[in-house]
Amino acid sequence: MSPLPGAVLYASIFTLGCVVGSFLNVCIYRMPRDRSVVAPPSHCPHCGARLRAIDLVPLISFLALGRKCRFCGSPIAWRYFAVELITGLVFVAVWAASGPGLQVLPSWIFASVVIAVVFTDVDHMIIPDKLVVAALLAALLSEGLLAMRGEPHLASVNLLGGALPIPGFLAGGVVGLLVFAFIRVFSQLLFRREGMGLGDVKLAGAIGAMLGPVLALLSFGLAIVAGAVLGILLLLVRLRRRMEYLPFGPFLAVCALVALVAPKTLIGLTSTLYSRWVEMLAP
Ligand SMILES: [Zn+2]
Repeated sequence: MSPLPGAVLYASIFTLGCVVGSFLNVCIYRMPRDRSVVAPPSHCPHCGARLRAIDLVPLISFLALGRKCRFCGSPIAWRYFAVELITGLVFVAVWAASGPGLQVLPSWIFASVVIAVVFTDVDHMIIPDKLVVAALLAALLSEGLLAMRGEPHLASVNLLGGALPIPGFLAGGVVGLLVFAFIRVFSQLLFRREGMGLGDVKLAGAIGAMLGPVLALLSFGLAIVAGAVLGILLLLVRLRRRMEYLPFGPFLAVCALVALVAPKTLIGLTSTLYSRWVEMLAP
């Protein structure tokens, strides 16, 4: 489809991802603080100097300025560089997975949301509603594009003895909300503490809407296993005290990205784990 040679095409996609990553840095910093992501224009958080276009070139400005503000010399966190680089790489991975076509657009939006969720939840234990809404819009756009191509994503639900086809984003969204609302209520009753934030429940609904019920459930399973393993590891190396809260959003987000970019790998991995588990229980 594309007349561009592969390397040029991938370099352009990587650059686009880095530019989006630069915007995500603004979202990650401002959204949890309830500030607008468009105004005021970017400025140095230390001296308040307004940054010029030349200070805002993704990856390059950071390196060219020697990790320092041009005006006051305050250090700029590696985080900004990392988010731009990660977004560039993720954009390339999403393109490679979904191939040319409009369908890549909702996937890019969804992947960007996922990256912003990881950092805002780690920093502030918050998943901004705006990010959840953006993920939902990506899911609707994806569903709309599939329907326009005449390949609507339908999940069949067995109701009252008959199979009822319902749109995949609806089935997935409901499954995501229900599973995590259940975990939230259950952990409140059982442990008398909030095991799952409301933001996690909403995010799970949006992930379900994007991935559809089957892939969403697999990604939730992977997230729960990964969260438990990392939680236990952190306890073992005594980085965390026992009752401290480990944000779950990043696990949900990263596993949803795995499901989006490598659905076949996720399905293969889950079925291998599941059959090992069955073998262990019934040798
Ligand atoms: Zn400055």
